[in-house]
Amino acid sequence: MSTKVEHREFQAETRQLLDLMIHSIYSNKDTFLRELVSNASDALDKLKLEAFRDKDLDVDTSDLHIELDTDADARTLTVRDNGIGMTRDEVVDLIGTLAKSGTAQLRGALSAAQNAESAAAAEELIGQFGIGFYSSFMVADTVTLLTRKAGEKTATRWESSGEDTYTIEEVDDAPQGTSVTLHLKPNDEDDHVRDYTSEWTLEDIVKKYSDFIAWPIRMQVERTTTVGEGEDAKDETTVEVKTLNSMKALWTRPRDEVSDDEYHEFYKHVAHAWDEPLEIIPMKAEGTFEYQALLFLPSVAPFDLFMRDAKVGVQLYVRRVFIMDDCEELIPPYLRFVKGVVDAQDLSLNVSREILQQDRQIRAIRRRLTKKVLATIKDLRTEQPEKYRTLWTQFGRALKEGLLSDTDNRDLILSISAFESTATDRGDDADESARWTSLAEYVERMKPGQDVVYYMTGESRQQIENSPHMEAFAAKGLEVLLLTDPVDEMWVDAVPEFEGKRLQSIAKGEFDLDDSEDEDSEAKRDEREKQFADLLAWLGDALGDHVRDVKISSRLTTSPAVLVGDAFSMSPTLERLYRASGQPVPVTKRTLELNPDHELVKALESAHSASTDDAELRDTAELLYGMALIAEGGELDDPAAFTRKLAQQLTRSLG
Ligand code: ADP
Ligand code: MG
Repeated sequence: MSTKVEHREFQAETRQLLDLMIHSIYSNKDTFLRELVSNASDALDKLKLEAFRDKDLDVDTSDLHIELDTDADARTLTVRDNGIGMTRDEVVDLIGTLAKSGTAQLRGALSAAQNAESAAAAEELIGQFGIGFYSSFMVADTVTLLTRKAGEKTATRWESSGEDTYTIEEVDDAPQGTSVTLHLKPNDEDDHVRDYTSEWTLEDIVKKYSDFIAWPIRMQVERTTTVGEGEDAKDETTVEVKTLNSMKALWTRPRDEVSDDEYHEFYKHVAHAWDEPLEIIPMKAEGTFEYQALLFLPSVAPFDLFMRDAKVGVQLYVRRVFIMDDCEELIPPYLRFVKGVVDAQDLSLNVSREILQQDRQIRAIRRRLTKKVLATIKDLRTEQPEKYRTLWTQFGRALKEGLLSDTDNRDLILSISAFESTATDRGDDADESARWTSLAEYVERMKPGQDVVYYMTGESRQQIENSPHMEAFAAKGLEVLLLTDPVDEMWVDAVPEFEGKRLQSIAKGEFDLDDSEDEDSEAKRDEREKQFADLLAWLGDALGDHVRDVKISSRLTTSPAVLVGDAFSMSPTLERLYRASGQPVPVTKRTLELNPDHELVKALESAHSASTDDAELRDTAELLYGMALIAEGGELDDPAAFTRKLAQQLTRSLG
């Protein structure tokens, strides 16, 4: 007796994803089993914990296991667990939709992958998003899921052929837990798809991908033996239950006894990831706080790394018992890309989030893990630069958040950070190795007499390189760090120095790049200040709404003017970031610096000394200010007024 079958549509992104799966340009189809086993294992972990916490929950946890069941004639494979199960709503949420944020990113990535129609593009997509349950459709043309949540009476049956729709219905009697039945695609010799009803194939795949799973993965196998002799001999078939995996928790085994492949598969299980880890970090602490940890640095950033609800943290186990996913108390947010497990000896299985937040032991573990991860990255930098560059390109932006939030480790983070600079190559050509510099390398290249590290923040490398601020630095061959990540705007204000060298924005504060010992140039500057004094005073007044002050500049070689903030003012990029996030931004006026050698400035000076104040001259002043804004990539307050004035001036110059 079952209620009516409901037909539902997959959401558009899910459909596209399924389409990719069904036409399976993904090369390694065996991985579907890893995903189903991984889900079953998670479900068993959850049930064990739930049963421990909720003594009233009426479930039998005496024989938690995973079962593989095949039918060669019907060509089906069933993966069954007696774990936590799902309610109807959970099935709809978890299985029927891609209930993950970032659908916009996924949509973009999907259409790119589909257009490319290449295995590489699909692989990259899958590496970033993970596919999980849907990977079944690589090998099945229909998938049936039957599940009953622990403690509930009714079960849910879900079925789909991976096209536009799925069906869902209530079912009265089903064992507690979940079974996923794959109706396998026809065997196609050319497709190199293996026979997933074969005992040997399944055993091989489980050994390869899921050996460490902590629950037994069982299969019934038929064994035919010959009994009797001669005339009386006959074949007897018995059914045996065989456990396919060794079930050893990987983090408890010494590193040299575990192969890299085993570690990699374990990583995919704990991280729900499809990429290969870049680095494996086993840890063991004895003494007051005893724990073992197995951490991984991934090689591909997940699509949601910079989204508000990005997952932070590693799995927490207590004496081999799974306690929680994403334990944020164990890893600081800026290391949210680190995945893995921590298995603590001395915590209670009842430990709650609230307790974890107060716990001294947890805080100590977090400090140790943080240090260990940073030290590992430091080693990568010197010993495996290519891996380090991958890490930096994928996760550098997140790591730099630590410069703000983790003051204890700030120097260490600074020392393992990489930056673009005027002395490094642009990232767009093939050689990534020349794109980055460390601060130590910058310091080595500093000019004699240079005692600060120059940097400029902005939206892109090109914008900064072409900004007027850069002119004198380029002319004098002074290296400038080019900081273009939004997070750069934040940490530069919090980090005063690196190894005693102050960090100094070239867009802020006063600069004197002339050699100050040179008395001639000093005299020349005084003379100029006098020559331009009237103009500067008048401009200061005429542009009083926009700028604090007008001065002669030593930063410029080719541009007529530049806007300079004081040491504590916000950079224009930071102002834009604040505005974009809807936060009020205090109006900060900056100083307008003029290039006394520029023809326009000279002409303005003579025009001004000839006729003290007129409308035309005021327009020119406004234009000069507008040009300085545009040159640094800023936005005009009133673009229409600017273009009107510009049109008038151009007309005059032509007429
Ligand atoms: P992920 O495992 O990365 O969350 P999946 O697509 O593999 O993504 O699974 C989606 C969700 O469906 C899981 O998070 C889990 O909540 C639920 N789920 C899948 N398989 C099972 C199962 N065998 N038992 C209980 N819940 C399951
Ligand atoms: Mg999964």
